[in-house]
Amino acid sequence: MKTEERTYFIRTFGCQMNEHDSERLAGMLEAEGYTPASSTEDASVVLFNTCCIRENADTRLYGNLGHVKSIKDRQPGKKIVVAGCLAQKDRSLIQRKAPYVDVVLGTHNLSSLPRLLRDSEAGPSFEILEQTETFPSALPTRRNSPWHAWVSISIGCNNSCTFCIVPAVRGREESRRMGDIVSEVERLLDDGVVEVTLLGQNVNSYGRDLDGTPMFARLLYALDDVEGLMRVRFTSPHPKDFRADSVRAMAECGVVCEHIHLPVQSGSDRLLKRMKRSYTQGRYLDKVRMVRDAIPDVAITTDIIVGFPGETEADFAQTMALVSEVRYDGAYTFQYSPRPMTAAADMPDHLPKEVVQERYERLAALQDEIAIERNARHLGETEELLVEGISKKDPGRLTGRTRTNKLVHFPDDGATEGTFRNVLITATHPHHLEGESVDAPVETVPAASTSRMSLPLVATTATSGCSSCS
Ligand code: SF4
Repeated sequence: MKTEERTYFIRTFGCQMNEHDSERLAGMLEAEGYTPASSTEDASVVLFNTCCIRENADTRLYGNLGHVKSIKDRQPGKKIVVAGCLAQKDRSLIQRKAPYVDVVLGTHNLSSLPRLLRDSEAGPSFEILEQTETFPSALPTRRNSPWHAWVSISIGCNNSCTFCIVPAVRGREESRRMGDIVSEVERLLDDGVVEVTLLGQNVNSYGRDLDGTPMFARLLYALDDVEGLMRVRFTSPHPKDFRADSVRAMAECGVVCEHIHLPVQSGSDRLLKRMKRSYTQGRYLDKVRMVRDAIPDVAITTDIIVGFPGETEADFAQTMALVSEVRYDGAYTFQYSPRPMTAAADMPDHLPKEVVQERYERLAALQDEIAIERNARHLGETEELLVEGISKKDPGRLTGRTRTNKLVHFPDDGATEGTFRNVLITATHPHHLEGESVDAPVETVPAASTSRMSLPLVATTATSGCSSCS
C-alpha cells in the first residue's frame, strides 16, 4: 500500500441487509475519492461490516482484526473500521478489546462514515446512535451487480421473536415512502438493472407506520407498472403478516417472481409460542395453501431452527411432519445457538449438542429428499434464466436463475450476465439444475454495463438466508 493512496476493502458478514449496507458504505467511500482494493494488504481503509447473528461472531471479528493489526503495524497509515450489528451491540467493548481500531459506527449512522474517518486523523473515532439518522437509501451506492439491485423498503422490526437480536441492533420498524422506492427503481432501470430484491426484516408489514395499514401489496402493483422492470423478488415476509392481498398481488403482477421465502422456524405450536412467532402450524399451513392455490407453480423456501431450548422429540416430530406436508423447494436449517440480548438465551432446557446434531441431520436428509422430488418436476421443461455469470465451480459453464429462484448451470454459449436465456432442463439435483440453452440470448442490459465476470467489490461471507430475518 502506498501511503498517499486512498483505497478501501470491505469484508461483509451476515445477511442481504448487511450486503446492501456495504454497497452504501462503498458508495460513500468512492464519493470521497477512494477506489476499491483487492485485499486488506493493499487497502488504506479496511472495513468490517459485522453481523451478530451467528455463534462466535465476535471471535471471528477479533481474529480478523488481529490479522489486519499485524499489517497495520507495518503500514501505520492504514485505517481499520468496524461497522454493523456487532458494533451496534458491543459498542465500547470493541474499543477496549481492539484499541487499534480507528472507527466504530453502528447500524443507525452509516452516513457518518466519511466524517468519522476524517475525525480519526486526531485519534480513534467511535459513534453509535440509537435511531436511524438518514434512511440508508439516501446514501450513494456502489452496487456489486450491474443488473441486480437491493432496494430497502423498510428498516428495523417491531416483533420480538425470542431467538432474534435484530430488534435490539436494528431498532423499530421504519418504512420508506412508496414514491421514493418507485423513483429509486426507475433510476436503477436507467443504470441497466433488470431485477430488484425488496429488502425488509418483515416486508409484509411495510407501510403500517406510514398510514396505519400494510401497503406491501400496493407496492407490488406500483412496481408492476414500472416499464422495463423484468423481475421483482422480496425477502422476507413474516407468516403472521402474509395476507391475501399480497398473495393476490404476487399472482397478478407479472413482474413478481414465483418464489416465496416463508420462514416457519418450527412445526410445534408449543415452540412457536416460546419463540413468540404469533402463528400456529395450522395457520402457517393455511398460508401455504393460499399461496399454492393462487400460484400453482410457486417455489416455497423456509428457515427452520433445530434444537430451540426445550424442544422435545415430539416437538421435532411436528417439524418433520410439517416439512413433509409443505414439501419445500429449499430450507435453510440452523442449529439453535444462544445469542446475547435475546430472551431465548436465558430460557432453561438448552439441548445437548449431540441431540441437536442428530435431529439436524434427520431434517436435512428429509429436506434433501423433498428437494430432489421438487426439482425433478422441471426435467424436460424450458425455463427462462437470468444469467448471473460464469459458474464458480466450472469456468466452462454459465449460471443463471429461474423465476422460481432455482440455480441452473449450462454450457457457456457467450451469454453475458444480466441477460435472459431460455434453457431446457436436462438434469436435476437437490440444490441446482443443469440445462442447455435453446435460443439466442435476449439482451436487456446496455452493452456498456454487461461483463463476463462479476467485479469483486467487497468480500462477503453473507448467507442467502438466516434464522433471524422473519
Ligand atoms: S426473526 Fe424477523 S420478525 Fe422476528 S424479531 Fe427477528 S427480524 Fe423481527
